[in-house]
Amino acid sequence: MGSFADFHCHSTFSDGRLSPTQLVDLAYRNGVRIFAMTDHDIGDGLTEAFEAAGRYRDFTLIPGIEMSTDVPGNEVHILGHFIDWHDEPFLRRLDLLQESRLNRAREMVEKLVTLGKPVTWEAVEAFAGEGAVGRPHIALALMDAGHVSTVNEAFDLYLSRNGPAYVERDRLSPEEVVALLLSVGGIATLAHPRELYASGNLDALLATLKRAGLTGMEVYYQDYLPAEIETLHAIASRFELIPLGGSDYHGLGGPQQREPGNIPLPLEPVDAYLTVARERGALHRARIAHVR
Ligand SMILES: [Zn+2]
Ligand SMILES: [Zn+2]
Repeated sequence: MGSFADFHCHSTFSDGRLSPTQLVDLAYRNGVRIFAMTDHDIGDGLTEAFEAAGRYRDFTLIPGIEMSTDVPGNEVHILGHFIDWHDEPFLRRLDLLQESRLNRAREMVEKLVTLGKPVTWEAVEAFAGEGAVGRPHIALALMDAGHVSTVNEAFDLYLSRNGPAYVERDRLSPEEVVALLLSVGGIATLAHPRELYASGNLDALLATLKRAGLTGMEVYYQDYLPAEIETLHAIASRFELIPLGGSDYHGLGGPQQREPGNIPLPLEPVDAYLTVARERGALHRARIAHVR
């Protein structure tokens, strides 16, 4: 049984395998009628997604983005929905983040050369494809060059936080990301919190982000088990956050993959989320066309 809504999916504009059109078509075929495309740190694929959504009479498309940030020990990803993705200062900010990510990757490649484990920038870029260049791509280049035999080994020996080729990232804090999303009329939701919960960082982060204006938290996510959903749902309630959900579909396969809509997200939190959007005057940025 699929859900009527999915608030988290990736296209070729970040690290997904399907174009925005293919993604919208797959979501529609799967019975999804309220859909958000949320590429990593980029909104450029939304133009095509809106065109694709326009071919369906009964399909709501919400403009979204997933922004990367971290706290010590954990990656933190925050989804923004109903964003004004044409906002010039916002686009400039995304460009700067992209530029600093590229510079960081280049510095790591230079460090590997001085360490006597050279990889070429071309190889790193080839592994990244259309996606944003990151440490996993450098790890693959290290493997390809025969310096390591697995991606894990590349991280353990060179690329982990204390590794000799590591370069610190220049990026926004989680609360700065929430503020940035709110500045473009977005509604912010914390993505896939299971690891944050496991490491004991979730409560402190939610207290901070709630103050910054967080609205939701992903509870019905990908392969989360019923017991995990129950635990996260209770935490969402405690912080008065809407328990949202998404498949985080990338089309890359793997045992944890769920197709768009293949999550047990009930309608009640979906309605609550849309109500917040309506109250904030943000609904007009979505293509609202669903018929119940
Ligand atoms: Zn994520
Ligand atoms: Zn994602």
